[in-house]
Amino acid sequence: MNYNRSEFQASYGLSSQLPESDRPEFVFSGRSNVGKSSLINRLCNRKNLARVSATPGKTATINFYRVDTAYFVDLPGYGYAKVSNADRERWDELINSYFETPRAMTVLVQLLDCRHAPSADDVQMLEYLHYHKIPFVVALTKADKLKKSEQAAAEESFRTRCAPYGCREVFLTSAEKGTGIEELRKYLEECLTTEQ
Ligand code: GDP
Repeated sequence: MNYNRSEFQASYGLSSQLPESDRPEFVFSGRSNVGKSSLINRLCNRKNLARVSATPGKTATINFYRVDTAYFVDLPGYGYAKVSNADRERWDELINSYFETPRAMTVLVQLLDCRHAPSADDVQMLEYLHYHKIPFVVALTKADKLKKSEQAAAEESFRTRCAPYGCREVFLTSAEKGTGIEELRKYLEECLTTEQ
């Protein structure tokens, strides 16, 4: 897969707008501000493919990027305290409808901040993935914020923590430094050849 061949396709705010699933999809999920846009940009060697924002809680949309022969599907971030109930319901509806329609979903990348234990929202997401038998890996973000010795311990602790939910692999990443990016790229590519 040529990650340099990436372009934004569209943002969808309503489940009825979701496009046909005509190519394999890699899904990215995580709390607002976890570093999802930064990771997507880094994977694709782009600065602004996905919007990087220091102010979390923008409108919930599912963003599709064409990346060579696949789609990157960027789910709206969750866990932002200041959203209304109506927004929360819309988020639920969007996410559920994405997962409930048959799609060529290859694997989901669940992002977790390597510095903090999973939040209640993160745990709810892990439970959702487990319950719906959604194949997923965890990408720990912002590894550059930890010392080397702390990084290994964090990775091990997340491995143990996430395994019961069916997590297949844990990648320690830094969008800033490029840590773990090549490993994650390779893994995603392998998913294309082994699961299609
Ligand atoms: P999103 O809301 O999950 O899409 O998160 P963003 O990609 O917008 O990032 C949120 C904040 O975290 C921004 O200020 C980023 O610059 C910062 N950030 C993202 N990735 C990294 C990383 O690998 N290292 C560091 N130090 N900061 C990061």
